[in-house]
Amino acid sequence: MKSTLILAAALATVTTQAQAQTASAPRAAADQIATKKGPLTVQPITHGSVVFTWNGKTIYVDPYGGTAAYAGLAAPDVILITDIHGDHLDPKTLAGLSVGKALMIVPQAVADKLPAEYKAQVRVLGNGQKLDTLGMSVAAIPMYNLPEAPDAMHTKGRGNGYVLNLGGKNVYLSGDTEDTPEMRALKNIDVAFVCMNLPYTMDVNQAAQGVLAFKPGIVYPYHYRGQSGLSDVASFQKTVTTANKKIDVRLRNWYPAAN
Ligand code: ZN
Repeated sequence: MKSTLILAAALATVTTQAQAQTASAPRAAADQIATKKGPLTVQPITHGSVVFTWNGKTIYVDPYGGTAAYAGLAAPDVILITDIHGDHLDPKTLAGLSVGKALMIVPQAVADKLPAEYKAQVRVLGNGQKLDTLGMSVAAIPMYNLPEAPDAMHTKGRGNGYVLNLGGKNVYLSGDTEDTPEMRALKNIDVAFVCMNLPYTMDVNQAAQGVLAFKPGIVYPYHYRGQSGLSDVASFQKTVTTANKKIDVRLRNWYPAAN
């Protein structure tokens, strides 16, 4: 009887752990990148969302897809949102996270759509503007489709890509864009996150040509789930590294919940 109870208790524990693991889908392993102010931890979350930890601060980029993916991570000090679409501005996910102390850095179009409860913590940044806060700098970079058209999915001026300076390292987040002149002209980017999904942004070859133009030290393909499934990021890696061996292309699983 006693052993049966112990066994039952053990089974219950195993079941609980399994459920906990399912609830918070396994994340890709985090990377650490050295900066002058200690390591920058890069935690891929999903699609266009990544969490950085640096200098005692936690930065969420485009929190999306439910709160389980953020389980166990520190509450954000800064939230960067790139655009108005649901895979970037996700009020449901924001509502489930502890965002009370976070400064939300967003373009005007996102500020206009954010729930009123966040108004006091929003800082609007337009394309070309820069903000210094919490020991870091944040610059907003245009993100848009080519050729420019009023009915494009991403029109120039609405959304923001971002370049963060974290302890001397420049980190670029492309947002939803094609290989615009502004992307190609970027200088001294140490770490880049670049989208590649059709029909929303660009294909892997176009993304590779853009990356080869601005030559980041490290590039992570992200935001690569398109209308016909996941983009061929291995092909992106091959195109980039064949042309420039110095660029470290890091393939990570940004879609762990799909496995
Ligand atoms: Zn998107």
